[in-house]
Amino acid sequence: MSLAGKIAMITGGSRGIGQAVCLRLAEMGAEVVVNYVSRPDAAEETLSAIKGNGGIAHLAKFNVADAEEVQEVFKKITADHGTVDILVNNAGITKDGLLATMKEEAWDDVLDINLKGAFNCTKAACRAMMKKRWGRIINISSVVGASGNAGQANYAAAKAGLIGFTKSAARELASRGITVNSVAPGYIDTDMTSDLSEAVKEKILSEIPLGVLGEGKDIAGAVAFLSSEDGRYVTGQVIHVNGGMYMI
Ligand code: NDP
Repeated sequence: MSLAGKIAMITGGSRGIGQAVCLRLAEMGAEVVVNYVSRPDAAEETLSAIKGNGGIAHLAKFNVADAEEVQEVFKKITADHGTVDILVNNAGITKDGLLATMKEEAWDDVLDINLKGAFNCTKAACRAMMKKRWGRIINISSVVGASGNAGQANYAAAKAGLIGFTKSAARELASRGITVNSVAPGYIDTDMTSDLSEAVKEKILSEIPLGVLGEGKDIAGAVAFLSSEDGRYVTGQVIHVNGGMYMI
């Protein structure tokens, strides 16, 4: 499953799931652009890890929610390295709270980064993919986009929105040789889930038939498949990678 000659942009590629995706796609031969927004230290670590394995990578600092900034950065990347062939819309945040007391800002921030961020980056990348008649777009959704979750109305709405976005974009772009899919992780051991109390973790574990939390590499494996020639006939789909905690 070689990705030699392809340029892959991974939003939120500096930590957690995004970092695992960056490492995996770089191992497969892709030239990787690692996006981050607030933690240059983590981004540098990811860059060094890729280079240490003999891979090619660059850093790109931008906020996926800022449409203008996204357009500018994609233009610069195209000028400096070439057009993006594989886009992984992975950047995400949570701002949990019960619906009745959720602040408007918590709603807007989560929708802006998790959902509008994917729109901004897809819009910035897809024209060049259309011209090349080849592209892979992979949106990182979540199990809660399918199941819902108390305390995450904003996040679940954004992640469910990503699934509708994926299917619509897949229909629009299929005739140009571009596939668009979602990967919906269950609970993955990253900074995003590190704040959960032991009691909550125990409860989550009791609901996972495979009995363990997932790791970034589990999601990276699904992204690798969808990015590769092996995944060429898969589009508009949601691949659930969740240890069996939610079965469609
Ligand atoms: P982390 O919190 O570990 O990492 C988040 C990444 O997103 C960081 O690289 C961060 O960059 C980046 N990021 C955040 N906001 C922005 C922004 N505005 N613009 C650009 N980059 C941004 O998250 P995970 O690795 O756990 O999650 C990755 C994705 O997977 C998210 O979309 C998440 O919703 C989804 N997911 C995660 C699950 C889990 O259990 N962990 C389960 C289901 C889905 P920086 O460090 O510079 O701030």
